Amino acid sequence: MKATLLVAAAAFAAALPLSAFAEKESPVRVATWKGAAKGAISLYYDDGTGSSFKNALPELVRRGLPGTFYICGGWFGSENDPNLVRWGAAAKEHPDIVFLGDHTWAHGGVSNALQFAEEISRNGALLRRLAGLPEDEPLSFALPGAVRWDVTREEQAKVLADHHEVLRHPFEPNIAGPKDGNNPTFSMRTAADAAKAFDRAERNGGWESLIFHGIGGDWIAFDLAEHGAMLDDLEARVKAGRLWCGSAIDVHRYAAARDAIRFTDAEVSEQGLDFRVEGDAGQQLGVTAPRPTLVCAVPADWTRARVRSELFTFGCKELADRARKGFEVPVSAGRIVFDLPLGWVGVSVRKAE
Ligand SMILES: [Zn+2]
Repeated sequence: MKATLLVAAAAFAAALPLSAFAEKESPVRVATWKGAAKGAISLYYDDGTGSSFKNALPELVRRGLPGTFYICGGWFGSENDPNLVRWGAAAKEHPDIVFLGDHTWAHGGVSNALQFAEEISRNGALLRRLAGLPEDEPLSFALPGAVRWDVTREEQAKVLADHHEVLRHPFEPNIAGPKDGNNPTFSMRTAADAAKAFDRAERNGGWESLIFHGIGGDWIAFDLAEHGAMLDDLEARVKAGRLWCGSAIDVHRYAAARDAIRFTDAEVSEQGLDFRVEGDAGQQLGVTAPRPTLVCAVPADWTRARVRSELFTFGCKELADRARKGFEVPVSAGRIVFDLPLGWVGVSVRKAE
């Protein structure tokens, strides 16, 4: 019934009123999570365990699910230790899957802010070098557990910002079990336990994370078969578009980009939708930052739309040609979902013939 009215409005109105669009609140917005998924999940593997390299990393690569591996450089014999270098090689080979996170150089705790700065300066530089990243590329930081930590929150925040690092997920050490919302799940033992966090993310539209150490070995070991079952479950939810699995730093950067973007001059006409993008942080968030996913309302009778740009920040002819040509996306229930290409300032959405 509603669809019929919308089609009728599209057919007869010279200029489409906003009400002809399925999403009345705004014709364009940034999806809360990448791909317009309902919730976000991050997988954390702490302490750079050999078993997580051997047993978790290949399983993540096979499924295309990213994980963050928190490494302490000081735990290895030297910077050329093969057991350390292999992490960098994996991050270079699979930059969308294998993210290295800072877990301090020594995992021994710190007694003041200066020591904290030294720990992460040394470790962060090492990890970026291993992964082939620029020296100011943001890294996720994980507090080492069960050690002395004599820095205030303010000092900690300043040191992290100074070193382009971001505290992973709000987390208080020794919290027993997850709180609904934003604390990592630490105490799970099975895939079914992990599924509770996945369900929560879908239900609440939030960001949940799971912390692992050993996978089928080492310490605080998570069972290998259960780990596989957990990833199967997550992969199915990701493929169905219900969850986004992002590395710790990518979820943080996605949220930062999302919250900074503004749309101006949105204009709805019978041809379609035009708008301008302001505040796109783009590469300021790092060379590997994920692009924001946009959700645009289009007339419900469209089946495909073409998204293109005549106004962009780059001068390169190839990119300009590509922007003018644009790309096609399917329409579902009167909306389209796409990742905003880097450098696009003006965006046009038209019916694809
Ligand atoms: Zn640790």
